[in-house]
Amino acid sequence: MALDRKALDLCVDELSQELSALSRQIHAHPELCFEEHQASTWLGDCLERELGGPVERGVGGLATAFRARVGTGSPRVAILAEYDALPDIGHACGHNLIAGGAVGAFLALARGAASLPGSVEIIGTPAEEGGGGKIKLIEAGVFQGVDAAMMFHPFDRDILAHPALCSMRIAIAYEGVPAHAAAAPFAGKSALTACLETFRLIDSQRVHFRDGVRVHGIVTNGGQAVNVIVEHAASEFTLRAQTSAELERVREIVLRCARGAALACDVSVSFEEKRGYREMRNNLTMARRFGAALEALGRNPRETDARVGAGSTDMGDLSLYLPSIHPYLAICDEGESLCHEHRFADCAASERGMSTMLVAAKAMARTTLDLLEDPKLLGDVRREFEAAR
Ligand SMILES: [Zn+2]
Ligand SMILES: [Zn+2]
Repeated sequence: MALDRKALDLCVDELSQELSALSRQIHAHPELCFEEHQASTWLGDCLERELGGPVERGVGGLATAFRARVGTGSPRVAILAEYDALPDIGHACGHNLIAGGAVGAFLALARGAASLPGSVEIIGTPAEEGGGGKIKLIEAGVFQGVDAAMMFHPFDRDILAHPALCSMRIAIAYEGVPAHAAAAPFAGKSALTACLETFRLIDSQRVHFRDGVRVHGIVTNGGQAVNVIVEHAASEFTLRAQTSAELERVREIVLRCARGAALACDVSVSFEEKRGYREMRNNLTMARRFGAALEALGRNPRETDARVGAGSTDMGDLSLYLPSIHPYLAICDEGESLCHEHRFADCAASERGMSTMLVAAKAMARTTLDLLEDPKLLGDVRREFEAAR
């Protein structure tokens, strides 16, 4: 079957029952990062059933990653699925819909695989919620030779190119000297005081942060007994910024505050740093083409919306590796709920969530076909990517 936009839409509509059932099944069985064994099995089984051929499971050395390809040669476009959930609040990020949308787009394109001028792959990317699955897949070479990548994310409004912040974590451990808190407090050195002072010092520096910086922390060890001057204390901070350069500057400030607090309290301090995600570089050429597809499907997306805040995603890392988009589509009314809330988890299993998932599938399928059929479009996408490097 030759593919045109209407044929793609029709394929997605024919698959709608199956896609909704699959998405609701994943929603009803939330699995945490790198533990998405059921979800990746169900997604792989659905793809195999529809394609009549095998799906690569455990791709890139990650047990819950998978990949399937249709078409031949270049250009190569990847459509990404996420399917991990959050502790306690389940699919409150709506990754079940991301998975269903990706499968829908891919299978619609697969039905006309023989006439595709290039190839399309669906890549199942585990552990977006903290595990950085896409980073591991990049390092394993899974995205080598891919010309462009896309996914969609559920939200409370339609936005084509919203920023995502780069991020990192710093765990801070303080070592003091224990002493009887009543009989001999003068003999002790409090690790907890240094820990608490670090929070206060960081707050004092917020006035110097650039727009978009976020520093948020928790105390992970505040001591064991109230009648002992605390020997061991610990905290953990997440740092986020709009650029890697600003993140590095804020990192220095946080380390300085912890060292200053430790100096004042005469305790020792040590750090364990963990990289997070890179900032999202939305490919506007591709995002606008996706937007045109959305408009043709009756939606009215904005390019961006300064009124809503930004989080972080491992799609940011991929967006610096190859041209990528990460558009957001509404599964509820504006302001009704945002990702990581209980209400949003309900929306991710609702009729509206399912219908948005189908629109996303159609728009991704159309955009993929545009990229494969239109060398000028792909050239413009590449040129924008190279110019931003
Ligand atoms: Zn999330
Ligand atoms: Zn998410």
